[in-house]
This record gives sequence, structure tokens and C-alpha cells, in this order.
Amino acid sequence: MSDDSLEQQLKAEAARLGFCLAGIAPAVSPEGFSSLTQWLDRGMAGEMHYIERRRDAYEHPSGVLESVRSVVMLAMNYHTAEPAEPTAVSARVARYAWGTADYHDLLRDRLKQLADFLHQRRPGCRTRGVVDTAPLLERDFARQAGLGWFGKNTVLINRRAGSWLFLAALLTDVSLTPDAPHDTAHCGTCTRCLDACPTDAFPEPYVLDARRCISYLTIELRHQPIPLDLRDGIGDWLFGCDICQDVCPWDRKAPRTTEPAFQPQPDLRPADAIGLLQLDSDAFKARFRHTPLERPGRAGLLRNAAIVLGNTVRSDSPPSIRDTATVALMAALTDPEPLIRGAAAWALGKIGEERGIEALRQRALTEDDIAVRQEINAALLRIDST
Ligand code: SF4
Ligand code: SF4
Repeated sequence: MSDDSLEQQLKAEAARLGFCLAGIAPAVSPEGFSSLTQWLDRGMAGEMHYIERRRDAYEHPSGVLESVRSVVMLAMNYHTAEPAEPTAVSARVARYAWGTADYHDLLRDRLKQLADFLHQRRPGCRTRGVVDTAPLLERDFARQAGLGWFGKNTVLINRRAGSWLFLAALLTDVSLTPDAPHDTAHCGTCTRCLDACPTDAFPEPYVLDARRCISYLTIELRHQPIPLDLRDGIGDWLFGCDICQDVCPWDRKAPRTTEPAFQPQPDLRPADAIGLLQLDSDAFKARFRHTPLERPGRAGLLRNAAIVLGNTVRSDSPPSIRDTATVALMAALTDPEPLIRGAAAWALGKIGEERGIEALRQRALTEDDIAVRQEINAALLRIDST
């Protein structure tokens, strides 16, 4: 039998399971609860109504596990090799989604193993593992457990590990000795992340207006068109955005993960926007089922691909690229999903190829969805005024 304390044994087991950081926080009201309520009151959660619906549950971890006494906070590194240089029709995917697995599944499996470990040592104890989906301010508890501080980009940063970290929590009714909270912050006078955000999503340091963030727009806002004034800022981001972490000095020397499931798949770094636009429902499912890219659904992801084409295919792009992009968008203009048709109309208008414009004119005669018709008319208007 080990002489180590239960806390030490748990941390050693967490390390064996692939978590690069582990710490223990007491099960108390998180300091960030008032910030959450202010953020919700300012409407910054946008369409993420599930947060508002469970607002009260965030006030104490007993909203997740009734008899909770301790919160074991864990972090797993997903920093992998850099992406290939983007080409004119490539689309960028946020780093966390490059691997083969949905990280929720992988982390849940590891949490289950850690919970089993605790149950063996404290038979009859209660546990609950959390990855993202429960009403728990994981980032707050991570700071409380000593794992790091909040950057001005709102992300948890660890001096040694940087910020490419998946957070997970194991709640338990076992009383564990907590670690010291991380009481210092190390952003200093740096404002790189705030300055680099292409959609001005930070109204002030440490506050993210999700409604302007590319991650929200390309993943969470999946049933609606992306607001017109934010489309240009999306640039070549197909799914999520890494910019405010990429520019952070603390991420410059972040160690690389050896986790096989997080190693990048070649077709996602970057992705092929034209190829994506041609995926029918079955092909989409076959390629993205059980991966993070499943979340926006086919309609959301192909809408994003059309936006990327509108942003990246320019007048000086090679004619072959302008041509293939236009043909793919013309096909998308007849897609059964209005969301895709609307984005395709916008992109065809931006690219401005003659046959794409003619396709817009023809579609305007038969389109029966009001929102798509408005997109087509707006695209034609922009072309006429240039
Ligand atoms: S993820 Fe991208 S869009 Fe969102 S806040 Fe960071 S830089 Fe801005
Ligand atoms: S880029 Fe600078 S300000 Fe932003 S989180 Fe990193 S250190 Fe802090």
C-alpha cells in the first residue's frame, strides 16, 4: 500500500492518465459567479441559452453533485504541430478539433478511470466527472485549484503548459485537502490578444462578447446566418478560431502533446473549403460523426465554408481557383438548406465571377425563402454598386 496521501495518489493517477495538470479546489461558490451573471445580463452569451437556463446551478458545484466536498481539476494538453501554410481555398480549423476523437469522449473516459481509482480507495464515495456540458465554472475552479490564471483573452494560462488545455473536473463527496489558489496573474502590460482579434470580440480585457467571437459564430450560431458585419472578420476560419491564443507569449513555448487521438489529421489543417461544400448529408456524417466538427451540423459547416470562400477567393486568385470556387458555390445555391444557399449567395457576390452573378439572377426568380432572397438581392446590389 502506498504511503502517499490520497491527494498525491490521485494526482499521480491523473498524470498516468495523461492529464498534465491536476489540483484540488474546495467545493465552494466560485468567485466568477457574479461575473457570469453580469455577462449573461449584458446578453453576451448570444444564442447559448442553455447557460442562461441553468444560471442558478453555476452558483455552487452542488448544482452538479449534491453532496460535493471537493473538486479535482484536471487539464490535458492538446498542443500539436503547427498547420500547413494556408492556400487560397483552404479553411482553418481550431486546433482543439484537429485530432481523430471528440475530446469530450476521450476526457470522459479518462475521468471515469480516475473516478474508479478513487472508488477503490474510498468505497461508497460519490463522484461525477464533468467535461464542458455541466453547469460548472471549470475555469474558476481550475484557478482555485492552482492550475493557472485568467489571461486577458479569458483563457486559463499555466506558466509551464501555456493555454492549449482541455479542462475537466471530478467532483466528489470525499473531503480532500485543497491546493493553494493561483492568486497571481502574468499578462502585465501585454495586449496582444485584444489587439489581434479580427472581430473585436473583447469589449474590455478579461471580457469576451461571445456574439462577436468567431468560435461562437462558426460553431454555436449554427441555425442562423452569420451577421453581415462580422463575415469579413471571419477570414479563413471554418470552425473556431485560435488567434488570441496563437499570439500569446505564454503559448510560444507550450509543450507538445503526445496523445495519439489529438494528433492532427491532414485534411483538417487546413481543410479544403471547396471539397467541404460538396458534401451531401451522408458524406458529412461519414466524415465528421463523433468529431467536434459535427456540432454545427452540415448546414452550419457548409455555411462557414461558403463564407471562407467569399473571404479568400480574390480578384488576384488563380483563374482555376476562382472558377472551381464559383462552380461549387453555384451548386450550393440550390442546396436544400436555406442557410447554405444564403451564404453561397453572399460569397458569389463577393467573388464576382460573371457566371456566378448570372446564377444569382436566375435563382432570384425562383428562390422561395425570404432570407435567402434578401441575401441574393443584397449580393446583386453590391455588385451593381461596384
Ligand atoms: S477566438 Fe478569435 S474571434 Fe474569438 S476572441 Fe479570440 S481572436 Fe477573437
Ligand atoms: S496575449 Fe498577452 S494579454 Fe493576452 S492572454 Fe497572453 S499574455 Fe495575457
